[in-house]
Amino acid sequence: MDNCIFCKIVAKQIPATVLYEDDELMAFNDINPAAPVHFLIIPKKHLSSLADAKAEDAILLGKMLELAPKLAAQQGCAYVEHADGSKSGGFKTVVNTGPNGGQIVYHLHMHVIGGAKL
Ligand code: 5GP
Ligand code: ZN
Repeated sequence: MDNCIFCKIVAKQIPATVLYEDDELMAFNDINPAAPVHFLIIPKKHLSSLADAKAEDAILLGKMLELAPKLAAQQGCAYVEHADGSKSGGFKTVVNTGPNGGQIVYHLHMHVIGGAKL
């Protein structure tokens, strides 16, 4: 997609601190982090927003969700249930959709935010 900043990151036309990449997904640090850990998980395929996703994209969306806790753990934000039943760590996942959802970049992305109590 021409003029899409995240498609340009996928194409390595503009730099990003890439945390993960496979055939379908990419994860990179947010350029303007809202917390000590703040990265974005995107599909390499251009979807403008979550509202653009179709049934055929369900597996892709599931892979994005499945990747989030793994990368969050690598970034020091693992959610842990301790043997005594207490819980620690964790992170927030956010997908902004449309103007009222606060979406600024129209290439579907999931924010993963952590490292501090939010
Ligand atoms: P949105 O409000 O669309 O959900 O969030 C877009 C996010 O993309 C923002 O948190 C913003 O800081 C981030 N962002 C915008 N442009 C770039 C960029 O060129 N590189 C990176 N790494 N993040 C970006
Ligand atoms: Zn795009």
